Amino acid sequence: MDLKICWLYHDIMDLYGDKGNMLVLRKRCEDRGIQVIIDTLSIGQECDLSSYDILFLGGGADKEQMILISDLLARKDNIQKAMEEGSFVLLICGGYQLFGQYYINAHHEKIEGLKFFDYYTDTGENGRRCIGDIAISCDLDGNTYTVVGFENHGGQTKNVNSTLGKVLHGFGNSFEGKQEGFYNGKVLATYMHGPLLPKNPEIADFVIYKGLKKRNPNIRLQDLQPLDDTLELKAKQAMLKRLNILK
Ligand code: GLN
Repeated sequence: MDLKICWLYHDIMDLYGDKGNMLVLRKRCEDRGIQVIIDTLSIGQECDLSSYDILFLGGGADKEQMILISDLLARKDNIQKAMEEGSFVLLICGGYQLFGQYYINAHHEKIEGLKFFDYYTDTGENGRRCIGDIAISCDLDGNTYTVVGFENHGGQTKNVNSTLGKVLHGFGNSFEGKQEGFYNGKVLATYMHGPLLPKNPEIADFVIYKGLKKRNPNIRLQDLQPLDDTLELKAKQAMLKRLNILK
């Protein structure tokens, strides 16, 4: 079995170690004997995204989002085709924002999004930002998870009709609302950096499973060989205790 991943704008959108998400996907696949190909894609490069099982776009500062937006918008049909053909999409923070209607940045400039989804992002008053540790609970295709991370965004994402989860600590999509991210079965988008997957090995496996499903439609999450996550889960427990979520 093999998994093909395309890491979009790897050289521009990589805040707070988002690249760790790629390292973890690679390691967890290799430990199971699943061959992994991670290709990168940057501005101006040609690529048929539908040939990948997973597309990944990390977070970035407003300036970085501005740099790539016209290249990203030009790939709209390409990304749409990939999603229709079953490629799973993982988006972090700035990447998450750009798949919605628009993002109004800290300088009140409007960046048009890909408009795949109804949500839109504007900016907090007086440059206020959502910063700090975050923990959420979520249900992904019937599996319940507690997920931890770190967030730092001025963007306030609203009108999210299918959120990823409920905020236990921190902010998530906006100062109010206590909801975080977006998930519709095909796209998982979150404000969680830290990076997301090293801190949450269960989510890493969920992403691997969703990616493998594209070319192996009968695969089940429980078919993935268990790995030793003692250390990762201990670290997560320590964080949840510090945040008073676990006693
Ligand atoms: N520039 C965006 C914001 O501030 C996204 C930041 C990020 O990816 N962490 O909201």
